[in-house]
Amino acid sequence: MHNKIWLSSPHMGGTELNFIHEAFEQNWVAPLGPNVNNFENDLKQYLDHHVEVAALSSGTAALHLALIVIGVQPEDEVICQTFTFSASANPIAYLGAKPVFVDSEKNTWNMDPEYLEAAIKDRIAQGKKPKAIIVVHLYGMPAKMDDIVEISDRYKIPLIEDAAEALGSTYKGQKCGTFGEMSVLSFNGNKIITTSGGGALVCRTKEAKEKSIFLSTQARDQAPHYQHSEIGYNYRMSNISAGIGRGQMEVLDKRIAARRNNNLFYQDIFREIEGVKVFKEPNDDYFSNHWLSAIEIDPNTAGFCRQELHTALKKENIESRPLWKPMHLQPVFENTPYYGENVAEELFNNGLCLPSGSSLTDEDRERIKKVVAENF
Ligand SMILES: *Cc1c(COP(=O)(O)O)cnc(C)c1O
Repeated sequence: MHNKIWLSSPHMGGTELNFIHEAFEQNWVAPLGPNVNNFENDLKQYLDHHVEVAALSSGTAALHLALIVIGVQPEDEVICQTFTFSASANPIAYLGAKPVFVDSEKNTWNMDPEYLEAAIKDRIAQGKKPKAIIVVHLYGMPAKMDDIVEISDRYKIPLIEDAAEALGSTYKGQKCGTFGEMSVLSFNGNKIITTSGGGALVCRTKEAKEKSIFLSTQARDQAPHYQHSEIGYNYRMSNISAGIGRGQMEVLDKRIAARRNNNLFYQDIFREIEGVKVFKEPNDDYFSNHWLSAIEIDPNTAGFCRQELHTALKKENIESRPLWKPMHLQPVFENTPYYGENVAEELFNNGLCLPSGSSLTDEDRERIKKVVAENF
């Protein structure tokens, strides 16, 4: 049997261990230290030097703190894209707040601005103005940010960007992760760069960053003893993880180029197959890091369905995965308000994510191409 080809594997650049050795030599083996500060600074320089970045233990922790800093309280409503990973929505529930899910549109697979506005109007008419909007840039594809930012401004509802999958993606030249009141990045093992596990909160002001770090380090008041006036969390990134992150930042541009190249590879091998669409940018306003490459199969035209391709790949030890199951269809979010039609649901039914790692070799791509050529 051939080696397994994974959907998205960690891909070290080579200098990560230098930063970890440094941490050991200086005994900064703790959730603070020079790697943490320098990794934050690397991210700030990369994204936009006007933003402030707090390195945290995960993207999920970052989203939790974003909601707290924005002021979301128990029973408040928070609008969230339905077509996403559960980590986008779970932190709403951590706070005892209520999600309201919104469907996607077909061009970017992300939040549909029309349903977003319909949801806001209807919630207001029912007497409850949503406290925040969580938009996601799924698989690295930027959402329709002009429209979404405009709606967030017009209704004065703060926007949180879940850019966990979109580090390096841009919309009209602006980096994803810099549009929101607060934005979330993830450095989990499967993301475009990794710290083995970690995340970051991108803030607009120094005050918001300081507040986030205060909450992420157990909310200790200024006092010689341990004094607390607020509930705190243990969400800071460790100096060892941040060392991995510093090494990874040196190769981020290469990782983006490699994943974009995978997307071109899939466009090439599916070009002749009717009924299969490779997910790509709708026009030049969008630049996706193509964290994961995905296809949508119309089984009537293609003559095969996504399960058949999944099975054929699996037989050759190649991983693939259905697109995210929408949150409004998840048992845990049963009876949650939902605005939309069946765009996300159809994507879930007919879509498949294909191996997309930056470490895929030509040999790996040949194996994938062969499965497609021989079976479909
Ligand atoms: C990975 C991911 C998260 C969560 O990040 P973690 O660092 O794994 O907690 C949140 N949202 C989306 C869309 C993700 O893909």
